Amino acid sequence: MKTAEQYWNPVLETLPREKLQQLQLKKFQKIFKWAYENSPFYRKLYKGAGLEPGDIKTLDDIRKVPKIEKSMMRSIQGKDPFPYGDILSVPLNQVTEYRQTSGTTGQPVYQADTWQDWDGGTEAYCYALYAQGYRDSDRLFVPFGYNIFIAFWTYHYAGEKLGCEVVPGGVLNTEARILKMQELRATGMGATPTYVLGMAETARKMGIEPPKDLFIRKITVAGEPGGSLPATRKRMEDAWGAKVYDQVGSTEIGHWGWECQYQSGLHVNEAFYLIEIEDVDTGELITGPGRRGKMVVTTFDRLAQPCIRFDSKDLIQWSPDTCECGRTFRLLKGGVMGRVDTITKVKGVLLAPASIEEVVRGVPELSDEYEVLVTKKGDLDDIALKVELIPGQESNVDAIKARLVDQLRVKTGLGYNLEFHKYGTLPRYDSKAKRFKDLRHKEQTSG
Ligand SMILES: [Zn+2]
Repeated sequence: MKTAEQYWNPVLETLPREKLQQLQLKKFQKIFKWAYENSPFYRKLYKGAGLEPGDIKTLDDIRKVPKIEKSMMRSIQGKDPFPYGDILSVPLNQVTEYRQTSGTTGQPVYQADTWQDWDGGTEAYCYALYAQGYRDSDRLFVPFGYNIFIAFWTYHYAGEKLGCEVVPGGVLNTEARILKMQELRATGMGATPTYVLGMAETARKMGIEPPKDLFIRKITVAGEPGGSLPATRKRMEDAWGAKVYDQVGSTEIGHWGWECQYQSGLHVNEAFYLIEIEDVDTGELITGPGRRGKMVVTTFDRLAQPCIRFDSKDLIQWSPDTCECGRTFRLLKGGVMGRVDTITKVKGVLLAPASIEEVVRGVPELSDEYEVLVTKKGDLDDIALKVELIPGQESNVDAIKARLVDQLRVKTGLGYNLEFHKYGTLPRYDSKAKRFKDLRHKEQTSG
């Protein structure tokens, strides 16, 4: 077994750009050949484009390889080899792991892994945990309902592989999780930003004050953009007296990005993944900083169900900065900034729901909870924002309202119907929150 210290790999993580690109090309050629030879789905796709394994000679050639997307995976699943369909590139009896996507954007996509794939994904996550300061002296608590979704499974396995002691906080309720965390003096945990904030609120209601009464000093968050939104991060760090690090990944891809202890942006794990950023409208490759586009990603070392040039629809942009930690893996600025399909037009203005979160979480007199409802009134869009005042702020409502209106206008270019709700009355969530509700389409079809 590796020691924790071996997850700082100066050979891999500080490779000069040119060497890193050579490694990426070699790894791409290998997974492309593997998929061509072992998956009827990919072979048909590549033959249709007139491509064979020997045709990928340069990084530029990769741009000729057809992209895949979720809808293509959905169309083959349920067929043989059941239930994955012919994207599967190993005999079915080698599959050891089943997970599926959450289905928030349609029918869930199934994901198969061999033990080797699973271990490889875990290995990639170990680099992240090491960079976030996790060591074998840490005791991790995982307050997660272990189930068919990938969520914090990899956090659990990577913690073990790094040598940490891992406590599974499965079916316990929030109160019981907090008590167990306190009893065992857990030092690290992984959860969604929503749940991290919710747990701190519950702990205080129980009379337990982090960081005085709890020992959590490192929190890895995933599943929502909050970890890379400065206002949400500050709320989490203040609530726990701990450092909070963003982590990104998905069922189909694996865990491709993470923040290190310097918190200067998301490092892309370029030794395990190829991340391309494309202009949403033109498909042009974006190589420089400061221009947002959608992510097209290739996972190099996952063989059962290869992920090659997957159009993730996640919106990201390169950072102009390099990181003080010395890693040459490039940084993304602002994490995952939303998805192509969550950017929606309201009153003719393009709106990314995360920008509302940034404003709300930046107002200290408001609670962590909020909700956005987009509806149609006649022919016109209406956008309502529900927020909660923290107790004791009721008399300041006018000043808070004026500030909110102003900042929302600056950040999102829109006017909102603001509703102030009593503290504790908006819905609380245990994992991914559903705060943005666009009911325009529903109303049209039912009306
Ligand atoms: Zn760094």
